[in-house]
Amino acid sequence: MGEQWIYLNGEFVKKEDAKISVYDHGFLYGDGVFEGIRVYHGNVYKLEEHLERLFNSAKSIMLNIPYTMDELTDIIVQTLKKNALRDAYIRLVVSRGVGNLGLDPTTCAKPQLIVIAEELAIYPKELYERGLEIVTVATRRNRPDVLSPKVKSLNYLNNILVKIEASLAGVSEALMLNNEGYVAEGSADNVFILRKGVLLTPPGYIGALEGITRNAIVDLALDMGYEVKEEPFTRHDVYTADEVFLTGTAAEVIAVVKVDGREIGEGKPGPETQRLLKAFRQKVVEDGVKVYSKESEVEVG
Ligand code: PMP
Repeated sequence: MGEQWIYLNGEFVKKEDAKISVYDHGFLYGDGVFEGIRVYHGNVYKLEEHLERLFNSAKSIMLNIPYTMDELTDIIVQTLKKNALRDAYIRLVVSRGVGNLGLDPTTCAKPQLIVIAEELAIYPKELYERGLEIVTVATRRNRPDVLSPKVKSLNYLNNILVKIEASLAGVSEALMLNNEGYVAEGSADNVFILRKGVLLTPPGYIGALEGITRNAIVDLALDMGYEVKEEPFTRHDVYTADEVFLTGTAAEVIAVVKVDGREIGEGKPGPETQRLLKAFRQKVVEDGVKVYSKESEVEVG
């Protein structure tokens, strides 16, 4: 890839020049919201859903995004074209903006918008073939009545603590429980278990991000004739499940084959997980917002 261009508050700047003030409250306090969006062959996957979640997160923290959904769509498309990307990961960040050192967000003049589009760092194929080994960690998910996990804010410390515990345990992902001990989600993925042909994922009130991939998998699974239930479950249910998998924008659908040393099913990615992943990958282009109308458009930098 040649020059990487970042959209920063109304203009494209080179990656090395894309800088913001140390007084930005996103930097000082994690005060802001973001989205991670994927582009498949020039189609932005579930763009409307991502933008809706962004605006809902912003509303929840009383941050007025000074752009409409159409304007943001246009900026995303421009960023992809500027970087000549057809398969990409987009990071959209809206921070509270530059203020003074105090917490008060009313000192921030206006939100800052950053759009980064990068070539996708796809997980190695063998990870999908082998499946993940994960652990559950001591860190509990933020309580929904304190800092709602539904808000995709720049404050990701809860998730970072999970990631630290996971690496200390020698694994790349981990499950966190909510305060009552029910399984909530991974550090950056939602979780599903399959038990006796029924697909289970934790309901919203357990406390997890409402994942766009999660919702897509629920819809897809229903279409494919699975019984799907949003129901709380415990670690015991995970250990004894026939199949376990995680979902997320980056990971798509990835099998979990060991949890806290307990082998799941036969210790290899289960057939239903594979089936869902295959169906998901077939559908991603169809469910996207087309950015490039012609193959050749990618040449326009
Ligand atoms: N949970 C958390 C905490 C996340 O950060 C993510 C990634 N956005 C997910 C779940 C998966 O959500 P999505 O499918 O929308 O990427």
